[in-house]
Amino acid sequence: MSAADWYAHKSLGDGLFWIQERFYQSENRANIWLLRGTHQDVVIDTGLGLRSLPDYIDANGLLGKDPQRKNPLLAVATHAHFDHSGGLHQFQQVGVHSAEVDALANGDNFETVTWLSDREIAVAPSPGWRARHYKVKAVQPTHILQEGDVINLGDRQLTVLHMPGHSRGSICLHDRDNKLLFSGDAVYDGAMIDWLPYSQVSDYISSCERLIGLVDSEQDTTTLLAQNASIGSRPCTSAEPEHALQNSPRLPGELWPGWLCGRPTLAVPAKAKGSRKLGEAQESTERCFNMDDLKL
Ligand SMILES: [Zn+2]
Repeated sequence: MSAADWYAHKSLGDGLFWIQERFYQSENRANIWLLRGTHQDVVIDTGLGLRSLPDYIDANGLLGKDPQRKNPLLAVATHAHFDHSGGLHQFQQVGVHSAEVDALANGDNFETVTWLSDREIAVAPSPGWRARHYKVKAVQPTHILQEGDVINLGDRQLTVLHMPGHSRGSICLHDRDNKLLFSGDAVYDGAMIDWLPYSQVSDYISSCERLIGLVDSEQDTTTLLAQNASIGSRPCTSAEPEHALQNSPRLPGELWPGWLCGRPTLAVPAKAKGSRKLGEAQESTERCFNMDDLKL
């Protein structure tokens, strides 16, 4: 199967693309985001890496039609887990948090939590392919990211927020000016996964508190928040935070249209569903993409 067949994408406007692996039909399938800038382009998370993501991006002209346009393309993994990092080896420039550099450089499939079954792959990428042969390939990161680093795309900047807990090197990327937060698996729609190798519940609680603080600090001046009526379900502010985290698994990220998460069922920019500007408050309950949106 060609790369062109393996992936599908949707333009969300303003140089932002949402890419999915069509035939990886699993709850673990991660969102892939492509963000174009005037000086640099960034891919955020790279999927399993079973087919060439760079080839798909090129073939579909996602970086523009101008042959003179030669922006650097940086692939950043929000964390080392296989469903996000498996395609990193396909890129020349790779960024990851410093805490997970060794895992990727060594092809450590324990820390990448590589877990794939044949039944999750609806159509084999090549004849005779079997999931048991799948591994995350070793890749040497060229950009070792730390808290507070800024990835400069030219007309937009992504600030690195270290949000450990789900994994020790989990990061979110925050485009403050455009009120977008690429959360990776720090927050998504569903039960929080804090039991993997190198997960740390206490760190996860701190990261959740920080995310909530981020929203609280911006709600008066931005439209990052939508109807966050369920913010009372904050998982991290209970007197028994670990218990609360387990029993209130949803940060209300799904109510914040500016949050672009690591999973396919969560918030996307409001613009994708109508004419509202990116990050503006949602008025409808339609705020999740599914595969139908890709018009496969
Ligand atoms: Zn993960």
